[in-house]
Amino acid sequence: MHNLENCLTEVTQQLHQAALAAGRNPHHITLVAVSKTQPASAIVQAHGAGLIHFGENYLQEAQSKMASLQHLPLVWHFLGPLQSNKAAAVARAFHWVHSVDSLKIAQKLSAARPPSLAPLNLCLQVNIDHQATKSGCPPQQACALALAIAALPNVRLRGLMAIPNPQQPAPAFAALRLLMAEINTHISPALDTLSMGMSADFACAIAEGSTLVRIGTRLFGARTPTHP
Ligand SMILES: *Cc1c(COP(=O)(O)O)cnc(C)c1O
Repeated sequence: MHNLENCLTEVTQQLHQAALAAGRNPHHITLVAVSKTQPASAIVQAHGAGLIHFGENYLQEAQSKMASLQHLPLVWHFLGPLQSNKAAAVARAFHWVHSVDSLKIAQKLSAARPPSLAPLNLCLQVNIDHQATKSGCPPQQACALALAIAALPNVRLRGLMAIPNPQQPAPAFAALRLLMAEINTHISPALDTLSMGMSADFACAIAEGSTLVRIGTRLFGARTPTHP
């Protein structure tokens, strides 16, 4: 039977080992539990086990869970492809958006983020290994795009995100780290977040410098087939 507490213990151990092996402080790596397709009860259980950060891909599904979990001090991360007609609602409901890949989407998020709230944290998604089917901006455009997004009000560009080809993630993770270092020679305040690593490759991502891993299946078990 699936047991969230056991899975969390395993994932946390692996995260710590990967960090220590790379000479890094495990506490500098944020674990985002990807709860898409999971019921609110699974999030309550995960919060009880010590998790605070949750990742969702589908706005409506996330909104209904948020409504029933308002009493919990959770941090919500939007990870899915972002259509512009959903940007305003995402900007109001979430604390982070990892899937920004155009200035147009960033502008919509910025315009819709209530100034009374803390700035919305953004990651620029980069198609770091030039995949045909994946979203994300081309790496050559990332620096100019980052500078433009960093200048917008009500949002704070925190870093870069990528979902590399699972066949060969390590060089892609390394390339994303180098790209952030390059951007940081042009931008202030410096970007501090490398959102990279999922269930299958988070140890590799940590070895390559990830500061935030997004883990679903390894914590919650296989997803129901209602969503891909
Ligand atoms: C679904 C998803 C994840 C989690 O994937 P797992 O393989 O289940 O860990 C992470 N990041 C993004 C962007 C996702 O869409």
